[in-house]
Amino acid sequence: MKVLKFGGTSVGSASRIKEVARLVTERGKNIIVLSAMSGTTNTLVEIADYLYKNNAQGAKEVINILESKYRNTINELYTTDEYKAKAWTAIEDNFKFLRSFTKEIFTLFEEKEVLAQGELMSTVMMDLYLHEQGVKSVLLPALDFMRTDKNSEPDIPYLRRELTTMLDANADADLYITQGYICRNAYGEVDNLQRGGSDYTASLIGCAIDAEEMEIWTDIDGMHNNDPRYVEDTTPVRNLHFEEAAELAYFGAKILHPTCILPAKLNNIPVRLLNTMQPDAPGTLINNMLEGDAIKAVAAKDNITAIKIKSSRMLLAYGFLRKVFEVFETYKTPIDMVATSEVGVSLTIDNQRKLPEILDELRKLGTVTVDDDMVIICVVGNLEWHNRGYEAAAIEALADIPVRMICYGGSNYNISFLIKAEDKIRTLNLLSEKLFNVKR
Ligand code: ADP
Ligand code: ASP
Ligand code: MG
Repeated sequence: MKVLKFGGTSVGSASRIKEVARLVTERGKNIIVLSAMSGTTNTLVEIADYLYKNNAQGAKEVINILESKYRNTINELYTTDEYKAKAWTAIEDNFKFLRSFTKEIFTLFEEKEVLAQGELMSTVMMDLYLHEQGVKSVLLPALDFMRTDKNSEPDIPYLRRELTTMLDANADADLYITQGYICRNAYGEVDNLQRGGSDYTASLIGCAIDAEEMEIWTDIDGMHNNDPRYVEDTTPVRNLHFEEAAELAYFGAKILHPTCILPAKLNNIPVRLLNTMQPDAPGTLINNMLEGDAIKAVAAKDNITAIKIKSSRMLLAYGFLRKVFEVFETYKTPIDMVATSEVGVSLTIDNQRKLPEILDELRKLGTVTVDDDMVIICVVGNLEWHNRGYEAAAIEALADIPVRMICYGGSNYNISFLIKAEDKIRTLNLLSEKLFNVKR
């Protein structure tokens, strides 16, 4: 059995839902994970913002617009009045629920419930559409098997047990549908796996059922060698090692959520990135095979802060780095890049929530300098150190760009540069020209 995940654009309209239904029916008995229709989760965030601000009228207006979008989709999607009515009865409950908050106190808990409505609606609509087409699909409610523990980590034994029981109880189904992104926390409250987290759902389910493969279906034919939002003439990379894909996802390649590679890698389940708009395109296969010794792709991670701690006491001293890192551990703030010299250390973080406290502590260790609004440019490939010339080529491409930090050698798969946000698009384009021979 495989797990097939379809993102927001793949189920973003009645015609797209029909196309996905056709694709999944052809592919047999698999588990289908769906995101909310594109734009819905952003709209739910907007509704939640109004409700936080006690602006019931603002929330109502946005809910009305969203409701009419769903009404139109339902009218277009189903052929028979019977299924139009069934779908509307189901979806009406979600809208009643959204409206029910306007008179109540609104907290983080209610927000999570609001955010869950998108995936609940897209999956019901798909399930009913498949039924109308005569397909015996079964809707497996993610809130009944996807749970996080007290450390906010997925509760894998629970997931495996509950999901297996549900699959066994519905053994004669043609295929299974479930919601991406949503889950319960350790206290049974509705929660989610963070924005873009449907990829993570697919990966966790894949591991729980020991799937043959996980397919992430989206709006582009696989991982491209640069970010298509900023660079023209990007091309798909056909094969990536788990480590290469993890670096790219972590450092900004939006096509994959950063959390989704680790479970696949640990369980050695291949991940395929495919295009719903062009189902026959080969896409990208991610597995444990390292192919070629070239640079494969470039990605950029925004909103980075660089911190430099300089201390003459670091000279010939031991224990200085431990003290620096302990500060970040105390404030639960992950570090991305690190560069050291004889008298100091520079590092980067992407979570600025505890920055004032961190800086106060670091100032006890030395002179601290901060550069914010920086971007990490990550160049990924088989960069094992005996392979010559790749670092040089990347650095040469950046000849005219001011570079704040460079990291290489931490893994065999990447070289990272820290630059100013204003130089990001130019840098990505220069790298495509130099590394992938894109002519301008
Ligand atoms: P979905 O809603 O299906 O999860 P996403 O929007 O999360 O889709 O991811 C797909 C998008 O990721 C693409 O449309 C593309 O703009 C963006 N993207 C960023 N970097 C890359 C890359 N290196 N390769 C392919 N797509 C990328
Ligand atoms: N619908 C959620 C979001 O927009 C989850 C996802 O699409 O992966 O973030
Ligand atoms: Mg996504």
